Amino acid sequence: MSVIIRYVCHHCGAAREGAGGAGWVRCGHCDVLIAFDWQAWFGSAQYAAYLRVAGAPETLAGWQRYQARSADAERLVASGAFDAARAATGEAVEQLVRLMPGVYPDELQTDATYRRRYLEWLSAVTYAQKVDPELSRLTKALEACVRRVEARDPLPTLDEAARLLELQADRLAHLELPDDPDGMPPHVRLRASMSQFLGGYVQLASPEQIRALLERIHGRGNVFEAGAGVESLGLFREWRCPACGLVSLEASMVLEHTCPACVLRAPKGDPALPQVDFACGRCGAALTLEAGERECCCAFCDTWVRRVDRTGHVERQHAYEVRDSLARRLGLALAELPAESRPGLPVTKENRRAHRLTGLARVAAMYGAMVPARRVLGLVTATFREVKGQALLALLDEVGEAARAEGLRGALEVLDEVRSLVR
Ligand SMILES: [Zn+2]
Ligand SMILES: [Zn+2]
Ligand SMILES: [Zn+2]
Repeated sequence: MSVIIRYVCHHCGAAREGAGGAGWVRCGHCDVLIAFDWQAWFGSAQYAAYLRVAGAPETLAGWQRYQARSADAERLVASGAFDAARAATGEAVEQLVRLMPGVYPDELQTDATYRRRYLEWLSAVTYAQKVDPELSRLTKALEACVRRVEARDPLPTLDEAARLLELQADRLAHLELPDDPDGMPPHVRLRASMSQFLGGYVQLASPEQIRALLERIHGRGNVFEAGAGVESLGLFREWRCPACGLVSLEASMVLEHTCPACVLRAPKGDPALPQVDFACGRCGAALTLEAGERECCCAFCDTWVRRVDRTGHVERQHAYEVRDSLARRLGLALAELPAESRPGLPVTKENRRAHRLTGLARVAAMYGAMVPARRVLGLVTATFREVKGQALLALLDEVGEAARAEGLRGALEVLDEVRSLVR
């Protein structure tokens, strides 16, 4: 399943993606920014640049400076030193913009006038969040809400966060602030802020929840699903071990497949983007995204659409860079994994079943805290496709025994929950 997003320009009604897959979407007619897409940012050159410096001491020091100046501003507001608070907020905002390339528009680096206008506006909004009582209450509620996000079921909390962002936007509309630097009407700015604020959490949602979350961010009529193939935008993918048949989970950005049961290792390329056929969300014309293609323009109504997916390509490239530079520094020669995979423990007709049971117990222990029990059940039924009903309960007992044998207490709790879904 591919997820396709349509971005419509608030200015001229058309939509064009002109930034070569970056997070910000610009209208080709009017040259204004019309949307931000965090999912696209995850695949962008800006994200690759961010990963390269994310762990560097200067970056960590930058975050500390940002937090210190924000805290200063809070204190100064509380003590009534408003001018100093405003100045501290301005410095915090400048720091933040520097720390997140691509999440704030790239033009900030190249256009000094735009940069000044943008920072003035962002500082004024951030300052208002500290000084206006209602806005400050909403901002604190939002921060608390995001801290409560649960990996296994993030949607209720993220829905609440989206509602708080809407209330914030309502309140901001009543305050006297500099004009929006991109000329975005409030509802478009709200959408961009929602993507900036909530987009990073989409990967935690289960495949069924992702669409609801994207609709909340991009608008109900602007999110489509089409075709079959690349699973979702989620962080975890299913993978079937060719040797023992265990269906397990792995993060989308891993460098190679590793079977948690028989320890087979197999190389992993970038997942191919399949061809998808769908109807233009604006005029209904039939559109096709060719295999590997991310964006296309409707020839009838000029609307641009793009598919977003979490291939993990940027993260994998980064992991290779880190690995290779470490190996160079330590003078290690890295052996490439053979294309046909490297077998782990021997798998025979007699021990295949035991491998799978142990594997499922390990998967429940490893991922049970991060994905819903329903998804763990899905792995059990995908591994043992023929098993249903009472036999499934007996099978879960066997997985439980395997977990006990391995001392996996966490898995047992997860399996209890899985059992309750079968009954
Ligand atoms: Zn336009
Ligand atoms: Zn295996
Ligand atoms: Zn069309």
